[in-house]
Amino acid sequence: MNAPLIPNLISLVIPAFNEEDNLPFLVERLRAVMEPLGVYEILIVDDGSTDQTKAVLRQLSQTFEEVRFLSFSRNFGHQVALRAGYDHARGDCAISLDADLQHPPELIPTLIKKWREGFDVVYTVRTPDPNLPWSKRFTSRNFYKFLRAASDLELEDGAADFRLLDRKVLNVLKQFKENDLFLRGMISWMGFRQCRIEYEPAARFAGTTKYSFKKMLQLAMMGITSFSSKPLYVSVAMGFTMSLFATLTGLEVLYEYFFTNATVSGWTTLVVLTVFIGGVQFIVIGIMGVYLGKTFDEVKRRPPYIIGDTSEIEEVITWQAP
Ligand code: UDP
Ligand code: MG
Repeated sequence: MNAPLIPNLISLVIPAFNEEDNLPFLVERLRAVMEPLGVYEILIVDDGSTDQTKAVLRQLSQTFEEVRFLSFSRNFGHQVALRAGYDHARGDCAISLDADLQHPPELIPTLIKKWREGFDVVYTVRTPDPNLPWSKRFTSRNFYKFLRAASDLELEDGAADFRLLDRKVLNVLKQFKENDLFLRGMISWMGFRQCRIEYEPAARFAGTTKYSFKKMLQLAMMGITSFSSKPLYVSVAMGFTMSLFATLTGLEVLYEYFFTNATVSGWTTLVVLTVFIGGVQFIVIGIMGVYLGKTFDEVKRRPPYIIGDTSEIEEVITWQAP
């Protein structure tokens, strides 16, 4: 499945979903930045785009020999596209960045400099961008807060998928068997010598964000996206709704108890407890269900992604179960 490694090669890995207008400019900017830095390849992963992205990529890969592409059979999501890029990178290191030029290519020489100084992971953190819409800043901040609260991960606010990984790290990453690979968390968890760099994000060059609110939620739930586990989430939602209802009812009956004479003694406690315990039970069952659903998804051992097309004739498209 994996292309042979090439010594002294630097791989650039770029997931792209409906980015037809960005790719030609991106490749131009990257070529300008990379030219003085040595031998490089630009590996773009088309995440099942529905526009002309694939045609643009074919054109680019025929024009520039350093451009390669993989094209998924459907949209698998940004994290999966990134993973496919890391899997197929042939270089001594891989630098991942977004296709929309929000990750400034001009920072690449700095990443490479740090790598040459001996760091295995050079990751970037974006400085808060005052131009971002309020909703995006809010969701982003809470996204990291939620993740830190829900897991033991030490994730920084604004950790981006703009990073350099040494071949050593790429090889370890390939050994991970789980389908839901949340790269930002996984890489900080893996250790190695890490170096942090701050950058100021640019505005998206063309097109609109491909991260809908729904996709962000899915990312936050660490990719528990299989359609078959959806009913489990419904039970969680039901639990929360019922708990809210219980709280409101509780307040109401408490009011009645203290300020009116309309209650039979003992009834208040009974109603509050019944509804509250019902709500909590739904939450607990729902959360257990989420984990069961995740186990179900992982145990199926499906390939994490399916490559439908590539710039390489010799690329083998099958996936072997580990
Ligand atoms: N992307 C992808 N698959 C998706 C969604 C996004 O490959 O399902 C890519 C997208 O083309 C871009 C990167 O992931 O290169 C980041 O997405 P985007 O810029 O839309 O996210 P934002 O910067 O708005 O958070
Ligand atoms: Mg973007």
